[in-house]
Formats: sequence, structure tokens, C-alpha cells
Amino acid sequence: MSAIRTEEAHDLTRIERIGAHSHIRGLGLDDALEARNQSQGMVGQKDARTAAGVVVQMIKEGKIAGRCVMLAGGPGTGKTAIAMAMAQALGAETPFTMIAGSEIFSLEMSKTEALTQAFRRSIGVRIKEETEMIEGEVVEINIERPSSNPAQSKGRTGQLVLKTSDMESTFDLGQKMIESLQKEKIQAGDVITIDKASGRISKLGRSFVRSKDFDAMSQNTRFVQTPEGELSKRKEVVHTVTLHEIDVINSRQQGFLALFAGDTGEIKGEVRDQIDQRVAEWREEGKGEIVPGVLFIDEVHMLDIECFSWLNRALESPLAPVVIVASNRGISRIRGTHYKSPHGIPIDLLDRMVIITTTQYSEVELRKIIAIRCEEEDVEMEDRSMDLLTALGMKSSLRYVLQLITTASLVTQKRGGSTVTVEDIKRVYTLFMDLRRSVEFLQNHEKEFLFGEEDTDVPSSL
Ligand code: ATP
Repeated sequence: MSAIRTEEAHDLTRIERIGAHSHIRGLGLDDALEARNQSQGMVGQKDARTAAGVVVQMIKEGKIAGRCVMLAGGPGTGKTAIAMAMAQALGAETPFTMIAGSEIFSLEMSKTEALTQAFRRSIGVRIKEETEMIEGEVVEINIERPSSNPAQSKGRTGQLVLKTSDMESTFDLGQKMIESLQKEKIQAGDVITIDKASGRISKLGRSFVRSKDFDAMSQNTRFVQTPEGELSKRKEVVHTVTLHEIDVINSRQQGFLALFAGDTGEIKGEVRDQIDQRVAEWREEGKGEIVPGVLFIDEVHMLDIECFSWLNRALESPLAPVVIVASNRGISRIRGTHYKSPHGIPIDLLDRMVIITTTQYSEVELRKIIAIRCEEEDVEMEDRSMDLLTALGMKSSLRYVLQLITTASLVTQKRGGSTVTVEDIKRVYTLFMDLRRSVEFLQNHEKEFLFGEEDTDVPSSL
């Protein structure tokens, strides 16, 4: 059983490790927030990365919320990569939600509900709670042996003897506490805390001062019960949850399990109003503070006029996150209208955005990105193969050649080699089409396809 688990975990790590943007670890800026040529997996796009760094800094300092930043540039120029790098630079404490414009359209909920949920996922609430913690050094743990009868072995019990400053206390252990003791591998001599409310036990470290006197004393005075009040301390625990998580937990139809299923359905407006009121109270009482996060909407041109109007209004709300949008479209139609506009976005919304542009890569930059990806995927490549991939990238697209790295290395493995040769790349180049060749093929064989229309528009760039 455990072997299977380990294998699954290994597979998951690998999938995660070789994701499209897994090589990106930050924006690659220096201390003055200027982009380095190549750093943290990022190459080139120095102006865009520096601008993104300024936005990150402002978000970190809590200076902006309810602003909209646009990343505009051709396909494969690193817009998503820069957004991912911003998420890394902001750190795990700042909520960062990523959606594609087309995800808003679903039969399960209205467009505006989907957008509202995305907004509220991107606003964190830092809640401060006081809990009573008992801290001390473990003197002894006695756990009853599990019964040979499996039906009886479930509710194991035991006792834990804990020494605090100069007293010892005995605690009865329930199944949960026993599990957390075993999970943390706690043994005599460890310094631990017990959360009185949840019974969770955490290891703080090992005690270095175990004097002989203490050992002698503990032998004589084991199991001395002291009033718990003297042992416990009040500690402040801080949790960050998102407004959406609070909504779901408090929504009677949903319950918190919906959070794990990801299937939260629509949430009633009254529930949200109550939550907003409660959060406002927490803020006033100093128990909670708002952490404005980031909502990244990729392919923003897929939104329609209703969504854009909603966005325009929602950005005015005091609980709005920073919205970052990306588009690779030029002048195009605003969905749901007959009007054309830059990036397919209404001018009034565009006017309130700050726009960061990304540009095409030079040959040198392209080669560096390919090299980074080869390293990320553990692929050894001959210099000549790198030259060929770079040339193909300049002719077709960065995305296409990044795909060829993986496929070519499979061909290499299949023939028992360890380094990708020019022949391996030629092989996959003939097996997998890039966009330009695929369109050429379509044009040449149009009559053989179903539903070919005479006036089909092929973009002139192809
Ligand atoms: P589209 O408009 O098609 O969505 P995009 O601009 O969002 O494209 P990305 O998806 O960010 O492009 O880039 C394509 C691939 O190239 C990704 O794997 C990305 O991580 C990588 N990449 C792009 N730019 C850089 C860069 N400057 N440094 C390192 N890797 C990059």
C-alpha cells in the first residue's frame, strides 16, 4: 500500500515539475527592482518584468486594490509566464486566482456569479485568534497496545506525561492525539505544544537541558496532576482564508465539504452580505484584516460585454482585488456587440487599465528559453539540435519548439540514445505539425473536410 502511495506521489511531483511554467520561480529582478537579463527562470521581456515588479511591490505594500493591469502582446510572448512569476513574488500569503476568460461560461452558474466567486477567491481575510496552548517536555508516553481484534483496535487510548517549568501533568490521549503524536514522531525528551481546543500536538524541538535531577524527580513524581490553568499559555494564531471560503462554509446548501469538491454552485446574495458585515466587524474589533490579492484573467477577450460591464462596476468596490488581464488579440470584436475595439475590450474599461506590453523574442533569448526548458525536463541536447530548434522557433513559434523538446527526447529514448540529435528533431518535426503547416494542409485539402465554407477567413499573419 505504502509503495503505491510513494509511486503516486512521485508521479504527481513529476507532472508538477514539468508543467509549462514550472521553470519560473520569480520575476528575476535585482534589489532596485530592475529586471536581470536572465534570472529565476525568466529571460528577456525586461521592461514588462520591471513593470510587473513595480505592481507586485505596490500590492505587497497594500497600496493598490481595485486596479486593473493589462498584459498585452502576441502569442507565446510570456504573458502567462509573467503572471505566474508575479504570483511567486507575492508569496503564498497573498491570494492569487487564475482563470481563463472562457471559464466564466458554464451551465452551472451565471457569468456574473462565476466572476463574483473569482473576485472573492482573490480577497483574503487574515483572522487573529487566541488559543490556549500547553507547552512542555515529554517525560513519558504510554499507548495501549492495539487489540488483535481489528474492530477493537480503533479507539486506542493512552497517557502522556508532560513537564512544564517545574511540574508534571498527565494527559489522557484520544485516538486523534495518538495519531498526531505518531505523525510528528514525538518521543520522550521532545518539547511539544498541545492546542487545547483541537487537541493537536506539534513538536517544537528537543530539550537540551535534561539534568540528572530532573530524571530523578520525574521518576518519583510521575503522574502528578496539576491544575491545567497553570500550564497553559495564550497564544495568537493567525489564519488567512479567502472571502469565498467563508461564503461557502457559511452557505447552508453547500457546507465546507463543497470546498474540497470544488463544486460550490451559486451562493446567495444574503449570505455574502452577512459575511461582508461580519468581516467589517472583525476589522473594527482588530480581529481581522483584509489582504487584497490578485485575480488573473487570461484570454480576457473571451469575456462578453455583460462581463466587462460587471468588471467595470466591481472594480469600484472597496473589497476588489487587483485584476490582471492578458490578451494576444489586436483590434477585434467585443463579444456580445458589433463593435470593434483594441484587444476586444470596451474603451472605457481599457482606459482605466495600466498596460504592460510584451514583445517578440530575439534569437538569443529564444535559445536561452529552450535551454532552460531542456534543463527543466532533464533533456540532453546536442548544440546542433539547439541551433535547429532555435531556427524552427523563429520560423514557427516558441510554444511549438517547446513541445518538440519533449517529443524529440522520447524518440531519443526509444532508440536507446541519451542525447537528442538533429535526426530526432527532424523525425518529430515531420510527425507533428506547427500551426502554419497545419493551415497549409487544411487549405490544400479543404474539399476533403466536412463543412468547409467558401468564405472561411484565415488570418493574414499565417
Ligand atoms: P498566449 O497569448 O498564447 O496565451 P503567452 O504570452 O501567455 O501566450 P506563455 O504561455 O507565457 O505565453 O509562454 C509560452 C511558454 O514559454 C511557456 O512555457 C512559458 O513559461 C515560456 N516563456 C515565455 N516567456 C518566457 C520568458 N521570458 N522566460 C522564460 N520562459 C518563458
